[in-house]
Amino acid sequence: MDFRLAVIPGDGIGPEVVNQALKVLERVGSVYGHRFSIKKLMAGGCAIDATGDPLPEDTLRECKNSDAVLLGAVGGPKWDNLPGNKRPEKALLGLRGGLGLYANLRPAVVYEDLKDACLLKSRNSSANIDIMVVRELTGGIYFGERGRRVTLNGEQAFDTEVYSVMEVERIARMAFDIARKRRRKVTSVDKANILESSRLWREVVEKTAKDYPDVELNHMYVDNAAMQLIRDPSQFDVIVTTNMFGDILSDEASMITGSIGMLPSASLAEGNFGLYEPIHGSAPDIAGQDKANPLATILSAAMMLRYSFNLPKEADAVENAVEKVLKEGYRTGDIMSPGKILVGTEKIGDKVAEYIR
Ligand code: NAD
Repeated sequence: MDFRLAVIPGDGIGPEVVNQALKVLERVGSVYGHRFSIKKLMAGGCAIDATGDPLPEDTLRECKNSDAVLLGAVGGPKWDNLPGNKRPEKALLGLRGGLGLYANLRPAVVYEDLKDACLLKSRNSSANIDIMVVRELTGGIYFGERGRRVTLNGEQAFDTEVYSVMEVERIARMAFDIARKRRRKVTSVDKANILESSRLWREVVEKTAKDYPDVELNHMYVDNAAMQLIRDPSQFDVIVTTNMFGDILSDEASMITGSIGMLPSASLAEGNFGLYEPIHGSAPDIAGQDKANPLATILSAAMMLRYSFNLPKEADAVENAVEKVLKEGYRTGDIMSPGKILVGTEKIGDKVAEYIR
């Protein structure tokens, strides 16, 4: 099959890690008989230098004309002093809004061979950590009415949490669909004991669940969910939650794994369109030194194969190749431990590609 892929390498280690993911995709193409037509585009600091705009118009247009987008990372000290709307990170918000990306998927997986990196003291509870956080990305308090007003008691500020039935149902369906491809369990996180928007959220999730009788559903208040993630993360399969709760819980879940260079993400729109990127930034401290761990970006490419291109066998092949590389002891500096084989960005990318058969 033929797929059109927009690629935004970005800044710092972005181009280095993206190159490894492209190497892996090329290998997938030759083994499984697919063609990925790659269009490289600019966004972030490099786009500011070239055009004065962190997200040039043609970048957004070309992304819209593609089947999916793969992004490295943007930003760096060179652009840190620019005003807010001229900064490289503005490109990320522009892409989310412009591409209608309403769901953010962040897996948190502790690999058998990287258990030592898990931040939890009890290794037992790290045994089966494989969580998918599904965060609503375009609604809730980050988009509701906000402002300031002066009252008799002085100045006040307010932000409003707003959710429509359509927004909740759409993200709930996505979570249930994903759970069907995993361990068939959804935990919906809200604050329904206090917030009216959470009570609507819960009602709609319950109603949507009726179409998924094969998936187990439970509800959890957000404060309890934050505790349970530390106490026993292996109880979770798919967590679905609002924009703000998801912002916080997805960071918490991913940090349990302890390896920032290993964590992929996907942001999905209607249909199968999505933007895929590692959760780490541009790591200017190690850029250009062949030290960056490209596995998060390679695993993001695997998510793209699964969610945008509907190629689960190929996605499994990439994920299995990453596991094999770890099992054989190859490590970049960020996940290095005694007795393992220290390799650079290029070499670990070569190894993953080689193990796709
Ligand atoms: P960072 O994620 O870039 O780096 C944090 C630490 O983790 C650094 O020590 C870095 O060397 C290390 N690290 C990150 N990714 C790694 C990898 N793949 N392999 C090995 N080590 C890795 O976060 P930061 O330092 O806070 O931010 C640097 C720049 O990146 C800033 O300009 C920030 O705004 C930007 N940023 C961009 C994104 C994005 O593009 N989505 C996300 C976060 C930060």
